Amino acid sequence: MLRDEIIEAVEAVGFDEYREIDATDLIFADAVFASCKQNTCGNYGKNHSCPPLSGDMEKNKSRFLKYDHAIILNKLAHMGDFYEKMEEAGKEVAATLNQLREKLDGKAVMIAGPGGCDRCDPCAAKEDEPCRFPDEKRYSMEGSGLDIVSMSRKENMTYNGGNNTLGFFMMVLY
Ligand code: SF4
Repeated sequence: MLRDEIIEAVEAVGFDEYREIDATDLIFADAVFASCKQNTCGNYGKNHSCPPLSGDMEKNKSRFLKYDHAIILNKLAHMGDFYEKMEEAGKEVAATLNQLREKLDGKAVMIAGPGGCDRCDPCAAKEDEPCRFPDEKRYSMEGSGLDIVSMSRKENMTYNGGNNTLGFFMMVLY
């Protein structure tokens, strides 16, 4: 059963928290989607998995809602006393997500993560070229308009663990 295979992979890779929900309980927010325009991460218009290249809010929503189930994953990372380990933490989280992608390769799932797709460096969008691996593109949760703060509260998951420890949220849809 696909659900059991996903859970087995999630537990093998090792996340701090996960919750299983119906895809219809995903929370989208126009404000989250619109905030990408501020381009604080530098991916706006520079990554095929992020706005505006990933489509409008409706297109992003429908990409998730064509699945029935979602598993919200959280990996907690300590940012360092002065947030000096932020980049290192981001790389560790990306490596964790890539391990999960490898374990679920070929399964009928969609995996979304924090930030834009990192399959290529740089993303072809930076060179105004089409996506090189459309079937392997990984969509951004925030860039898809998912309201992670509200969902983490609703599901009683750790967004801010205190002591400069933050939750990095990811998702498997099936
Ligand atoms: S697969 Fe490569 S080109 Fe396509 S969105 Fe990801 S990083 Fe960009």
